[in-house]
Amino acid sequence: MNLLKDYDLNLKHRACVKEKSLITPAGTREEVQHIVLEVLGNEPFDYTEGQTIGVIVPGPHEFGNPTHFRLYSISSGKKEFKDGRMLSISVRRCFYIDDYSGEECKGVASNYLCDLPLGAEITITGPYAGAFTLPKDPAANLLMIGVGTGIAPFRSFVKTIYKKSARAKAQAKTEGKKSSSKAWKGKVRLFYGGKSGVELLYMNDHVNDFTSYYDEDTFKAFAALSPRPAMNHPIALDRKIEENAAEVWELLESPKTHVYLAGLDKMAPNLEKVFAKLAGSESAWQVKKETMRSEGRWAELFY
Ligand SMILES: Cc1cc2nc3c(=O)[nH]c(=O)nc-3n(C[C@H](O)[C@H](O)[C@H](O)COP(=O)(O)OP(=O)(O)OC[C@H]3O[C@@H](n4cnc5c(N)ncnc54)[C@H](O)[C@@H]3O)c2cc1C
Repeated sequence: MNLLKDYDLNLKHRACVKEKSLITPAGTREEVQHIVLEVLGNEPFDYTEGQTIGVIVPGPHEFGNPTHFRLYSISSGKKEFKDGRMLSISVRRCFYIDDYSGEECKGVASNYLCDLPLGAEITITGPYAGAFTLPKDPAANLLMIGVGTGIAPFRSFVKTIYKKSARAKAQAKTEGKKSSSKAWKGKVRLFYGGKSGVELLYMNDHVNDFTSYYDEDTFKAFAALSPRPAMNHPIALDRKIEENAAEVWELLESPKTHVYLAGLDKMAPNLEKVFAKLAGSESAWQVKKETMRSEGRWAELFY
């Protein structure tokens, strides 16, 4: 992954907050806001699913930093809005414990974004090519595995796929055809984890965006929770994968499968272990993973 200093901050745009909604239940410590931005001005702006934008928080900042710049994955589908200059991001309000004072401090960009009122204007940068790209071949399989706001690019993928598919099917129907070669035929599998049900973003009782796709033959979502959320036990994504080992392995064996991992880097070791188990050994798994990586079918986005 690029370092923050490698991103081109000259690609600046003004953007206006058009919508803002809490996608975690009110009153819980975990707060994630779904923020819809409209890019202002006449400069060209075009994004594809899997890309990120930067947000520049106006200073002054501590330690004399002139700019505070952070990246956010685009969570909207390419055609989710009629206007191609609209996009959404999903922002988790961050806190951290200061090493010296031991006090709880607010993450600068995430709190700035979560506190923005409707109509506020901000400076964004990008869009930047991300770690994830959606394969063009509608016969490709997608295996998406993630936690927390790692769901953002997956939401963007799923929305894009099924919007395009619906359009292709409607077009085929008007042409009197039974099916369309452009409709998505590959398997789309989402393994998504949260410490508790409320932390399953876009997939909880409060907001469930994915229900619209459960009727699609090609789509399946698997939710994993922490067995003991109050005790900070890790989210059992690995267990969920193991429970569905046959299906996951069949996907990993297919040369048409693209794997995407997104979220917290601490989820990686457990996933490595479960994949090694499926592959039969650690070394067999490493060979398989490297093959997928070299063929551009393995991508990770951890932060
Ligand atoms: C490619 C990419 C995509 C991303 N996508 C998303 C997304 O879709 N949604 C999302 O919510 N986030 C996303 N992030 C994370 C996001 O960019 C920010 O890192 C996050 O919001 C925290 O930024 P902040 O400015 O609020 O916090 P900061 O102010 O940068 O603080 C964050 C961290 O900095 C450290 N820190 C800073 N100052 C101190 C201090 N004085 N003492 C101790 N520690 C300190 C702490 O570790 C703290 O946890 C993404 C990151 C990347 C790289």
